[in-house]
Amino acid sequence: RVVVPNAHLEGLNEEQRKAVVHEGGPLLVLAGAGTGKTRVLTTRIAHLLITGRARTSQVLAVTFTNKAAREMLDRVASLIGGAADGMWLGTFHAIGVRVLRRHAELVGLKSNFTILDTDDQTRLIKQLLQAEGIDDKKWPARILSGIIQRWKDRALPPDKVSGDDAGEFANGKAAEIYRQYQARLAEVNAVDFGDLVMHCVTLWQAHPDVLAQYHRRFRHILVDEYQDTNVAQYLWLRLLAQGTPDVCCVGDDDQSIYGWRGAEVGNILRFEKDFPGATIVRLERNYRSTPHILAAASHLIAHNEGRLGKTLWTDMTEGERISLRGVWDGDEEARTVGEEIEALQRDKHALSQIAILVRAGFQTREFEERFITMGLPYRVIGGPRFYERQEIRDAMAYCRVTVQPDDDLAFERIYNTPRRGLGESALRTLRIIQRAQKVSLFEATRRALETDELKGRQRKSLGDLIKNFDRWRAMLDGMNHVEVVETILDESGYTDMLRLDRSPEAEGRLENLKELTNALQEFDTLPAFLEHVALLTDNAERAGSDMVSVMTLHAAKGLEFDTVFLPGWEEGLFPNQRALDDKGLAGLEEERRLAYVGLTRARKRAYVSFAANRRVFNQWQAAIPSRFLRELPTEQLAESSDAGLYATYSAGHHGGLREQASGFDYESLGVTSVGRSRTRWRDETFDDRRAVEGDKPDLSVGQRVFHQKFGYGRIVAVDGNKLDIEFEKAGPKKVLDSFIEAA
Ligand code: ATP
Ligand code: MG
Repeated sequence: RVVVPNAHLEGLNEEQRKAVVHEGGPLLVLAGAGTGKTRVLTTRIAHLLITGRARTSQVLAVTFTNKAAREMLDRVASLIGGAADGMWLGTFHAIGVRVLRRHAELVGLKSNFTILDTDDQTRLIKQLLQAEGIDDKKWPARILSGIIQRWKDRALPPDKVSGDDAGEFANGKAAEIYRQYQARLAEVNAVDFGDLVMHCVTLWQAHPDVLAQYHRRFRHILVDEYQDTNVAQYLWLRLLAQGTPDVCCVGDDDQSIYGWRGAEVGNILRFEKDFPGATIVRLERNYRSTPHILAAASHLIAHNEGRLGKTLWTDMTEGERISLRGVWDGDEEARTVGEEIEALQRDKHALSQIAILVRAGFQTREFEERFITMGLPYRVIGGPRFYERQEIRDAMAYCRVTVQPDDDLAFERIYNTPRRGLGESALRTLRIIQRAQKVSLFEATRRALETDELKGRQRKSLGDLIKNFDRWRAMLDGMNHVEVVETILDESGYTDMLRLDRSPEAEGRLENLKELTNALQEFDTLPAFLEHVALLTDNAERAGSDMVSVMTLHAAKGLEFDTVFLPGWEEGLFPNQRALDDKGLAGLEEERRLAYVGLTRARKRAYVSFAANRRVFNQWQAAIPSRFLRELPTEQLAESSDAGLYATYSAGHHGGLREQASGFDYESLGVTSVGRSRTRWRDETFDDRRAVEGDKPDLSVGQRVFHQKFGYGRIVAVDGNKLDIEFEKAGPKKVLDSFIEAA
C-alpha cells in the first residue's frame, strides 16, 4: 500500500498540527468543544506510527467511553491505512482489565476473575448488611455501594478508610462492610468496576518491578477528556507516566461533568506542575457548530466563575437559531419532539444524526414510549440497556458459570432458573460447605454430591446441573461457541421455560436471546464476549442502522450530531435539585457545564424545551423554567412556545424554587465518630445453626456425634472432611464434617 508522507496532516490548522507533531516533553491540549482535540489525539497516534517514532505496542491511549475507543481505533486505522494491531487503546476500565489479568495473583485474584456489574455488587452488599444484622431498609445497599464506589474513585482500599468516613451509615459500619465486601470479592474471584483502576494502583505501588515492565513498554501515553479523570485514574496515569517522556493529554475544563463521581477538574489545571516543562497548546477554532449554537453555548458558560475562559470562533455559515419551546407537560414535549423528527425525516435527514439528550435517566421513558408508538427506530445509549434485561442476564449467568465455575453470583442467579425444585434449603446446605471448606458454590455442590447431604430431588437436580456444566465447558474446546451457547439455553430448559410462558413479554425475551447469539457471533470466543459485555458502559452501536439516539447528557460527551434535542430545562430537573440545594456554586456550575456540553453536541440544530407541569412521584407539580434559559442570548433564539407558557419564562420567574423534601443527603454524611466495628464474619444464613467458624470438634473413629438431619450416630471412618457414620435411626451415611457436632 502507498502511504503519502504527511497526508495525515492535511487539513489541520496550525495549532492542531503543532500538537500532532510535537516532540519534546509533556503536552496538554486545552481547548473548547469541537475544536478538534480528539482529532488531534487520533492524528498524533497515526503520526507516531507513520513516522516510525513508535510501534503500535508502545502506544497507550485512554478514552472515556467504549464508543469513543472504537471510533478512535477506526480513525487511526484509516489514517495509517491498516489496523493498529497490538495497540492498547481503551477506557481506563478496559485497560485495567488487561493489566489485572496478567498480574491477578499479585492482588489476590486468579487471572480468570469475573467483573461484577452494579446489580451483582448491590446484591452482595445487601447480603453483607443482612449478615451484620443491619437494617437494609434504613441503610440501603445501593447507597452503600455508591459510598464504596466513591472510596474506590479515590483509590482508597479498606485499610485506608476509617470507620467514621461514612458517619452513621450502616450503624457506623460502612468501612467494615467495605472490608468484608473486598474479602468476599477475593473469595469469589471477582472485581467490580472501581477495582479495575484501584487494583492497578495498588499493584504498581507495591510492585515497582511490575510497573517498570509497563514503563519499558509504553513509550507514548495519550489521554482524551483529561478534565474528567478522578483521583484513582489520575494516580494510575501518574504512575505509568513516570516512565515516559511522551505524555499527551487533551481536555476542556468547561466540560468537566463528572465531579459527582470524583473527577477533579484540578487535574487539568495542575498539569504544568505535575509535568514540568509541559507545553500547552490552545485551539480556538471550532469546526463543529454553527455560529448561533457556538455563541449561545459560549454565552451560557461565561456565567461560570471557576473557569479558565477561552475564545471560540467558527467560519461556518450562520444556520438556524436555537429553537426554544415551552410545552404543557412531558407528554406534549415527547409528542412535539416526535413531530420535529418526522419533519426532519421528510427532509431526508438521517436519524443517526439526531439525538435526544436528557439530564436524568428517567426522562428517556416518555420519549421511548412515544417513539415506539410512532414506529421510530431509536436506541438508548448508556442507560438501562439490552444486557440488563432479565433474560439476557440469566443467559449470561449460564455462560459465566460455564466459563468460570467459581462465579458464585452467576451460579446463584440460575441454579434454580428454570425451576428445578431447588429452594433456599438446598442453597443453605451448599453455603455451609462453601464457607467451611472455602470453596465456590459449584465446588461445594460437587463435594455435597459425593455424600448423602443432598436428598431426592435436590440431589438429582444439582447432579444434572453440575454434569451439564461440565459437559458444556468441554464442548467449548471443539465446538463453535455460538452453538455451545444455543445448546446451553436449550438443554438447561431455559428456552423452553420462555416458550411455555404465556405472558406478553415472553416473545420479546426469546427475540432478545436470539439477538444475544447474534452479538456472540462477533467474537471469537465465549470468554472474549463475556469480557466485552462486562465492560459495556454504552450501548454497542449496530453499524449501518439508522436510529435516533437517546441518552443522558453525561453519555453524550465527545459525540456530535446534526440535530440535538435538549428537553426538560426546568429548575429542579436541570439544574437538578441537588445542585440547587447545594450551598456553594460548585453543583450549579457543574450543571451549567452539562448544559454547555449538551449545546455543543449540535452541529446544525438545537431544540431546547421546558414543560409547565411535571409528574413527580405520581403528583403533578408546576415546573419553573430553568435559569439556564435566561442565560441564552435572545439573538440566538427562535421562540416557538405557547405565549402563555413563555410568559412565565421571560418574566424570569425564578422565585420559590420547587420545594422538595430531598431526604437525607448521604453524600454529605456527618462526621460523627463511630469506632471501628470489630464484628467478625458470621454466616449470613445460619445464625441459628452451628457457627461455621467456631471450634471444630475433634472427630475420630468411634466418636458419637450429632448431625442436623440424621440425628445421633457413631463415626465409622474419617476421610478428610468426609465421614462415614452409622446413624442410630438413619443407618449408614456419608456426610461432611461441616454438619457435625460432637454429641
Ligand atoms: P469535544 O470537546 O466535544 O470532545 P473535540 O475538541 O474533541 O470536541 P473533535 O470531536 O475532535 O473536537 O472535532 C469536532 C469536529 O470538527 C469533528 O467532526 C472533526 O472531524 C472536525 N474537525 C476537527 N478539526 C478539523 C479540521 N482541521 N478541519 C476540518 N474539520 C475538523
Ligand atoms: Mg473530543
